[in-house]
Order: sequence, then C-alpha cells, then structure tokens
Amino acid sequence: MPARRANPQRVKLHRSYSVSELALCCGVHKNTIRHWQAKGLEPVDSSRPTLFRGATIRAFLAKAKASRKSPCPPGTLYCLRCREPRKPALGMVDFVPITESGGNLRAICGTCETVMHRRARRADLGRIMPGCTVQITQGQIRLKGRASPSPNCDKERQN
Ligand SMILES: [Zn+2]
Repeated sequence: MPARRANPQRVKLHRSYSVSELALCCGVHKNTIRHWQAKGLEPVDSSRPTLFRGATIRAFLAKAKASRKSPCPPGTLYCLRCREPRKPALGMVDFVPITESGGNLRAICGTCETVMHRRARRADLGRIMPGCTVQITQGQIRLKGRASPSPNCDKERQN
C-alpha cells in the first residue's frame, strides 16, 4: 500500500493527539501512526491511551520528509551508493526497453562507478537525459515483472 503524504501543517503544535485523532488529522490509517511510532515518533509517555505531542509529530514528519528520496533532476540517475542523483560517467546511458513504451536506464555513476538504474519512458529520454548519449539496448525485452526494480526516481512517471 503506498504511503499517503501527511501534511504536518495540519497538526497543531500545542495539542496532544491520540492515535485515532492523529490519523484523522493527517488523513492516514491508524496503522500508519503505529508505524510512525515504530519509526521513532515518541509518545508523551507510556500511559494509555497513547498520546503524541503536536510539536513532536511535526518534527517527526519534517524529518521523514527530508530523508525521503529526492527525485532525480534531468541528466542524472540515483546512485544507491552515493545516495544522491549522479551524472552518468562520460555522459553515457543505456536504455533497456521493457515494454513498448518504457524501460530502464542504466549508467555508471560518474563519482563512484556503481551501476545506476532509472525507470524511463522511451518518449522522455531526450527530456530526462539531456546532453547524454543514450544507447538503446536491443533484444533485451524481458518477461513482465522480471525486470530489475528501480525503486528510485519513479515520481516523475506518475504524470
Ligand atoms: Zn555513486
């Protein structure tokens, strides 16, 4: 299930929230709040029902947002080792078609030489890889669902 984006601005700083109040306020499921708690959102104390301070929630959500993967700017792929979008070495990128219209970009990180991947639509190649030499790799159309995952930089595809 994809995580819904909570809006920290809706959480009032000087209020305390129970799990269900917070879920309602942020428009997420109660399980999401439990998940946040597991990820470090601290309750006011250990008594029941669990309460969270508005200020604590805001800080938690702001931090979560900051650590979320940033979308790759044009001309870059996300390098898992550098943990940042990086330019391909020598401006060279392979495009491995997976479907009629889309596939995976593959390049070597110009900084650490790790192989990087990025999902892309064939029609977008010029736009997302400006100034790069994109080589279309032929004959590699694989079975659906067997393509190597590229979890990063998928946000741009959603339009
Ligand atoms: Zn790298």
